[in-house]
Amino acid sequence: MPKILCRCGHRIWLGDIPCPHSGTLVSEAKVHEFVSLVAKGAVGEDAFFDWFRENGRETIECPECERIWIAMSPGTNGLISYNPETPESDYKPEFTFDP
Ligand SMILES: [Zn+2]
Repeated sequence: MPKILCRCGHRIWLGDIPCPHSGTLVSEAKVHEFVSLVAKGAVGEDAFFDWFRENGRETIECPECERIWIAMSPGTNGLISYNPETPESDYKPEFTFDP
């Protein structure tokens, strides 16, 4: 059965469809490209999932430690993890609109 062992020791179950722990990371540019294909009627239901697998990076969130595992590139199984900031961190990113 599909599951991965997170660095924290939790085994993340990936067998449910749709899976509550997995997702797809897709750039805004790729989303616009996809919407154009949909508008042209060029994407059916099966092609929808194929397109996301080919153009997005798989993500898996650990429900225990909230670490996020992200595929190193679209369509690959190599994963790299990202940890949330600790609760003690008071850093808040700011958006700027300077050229
Ligand atoms: Zn974890």
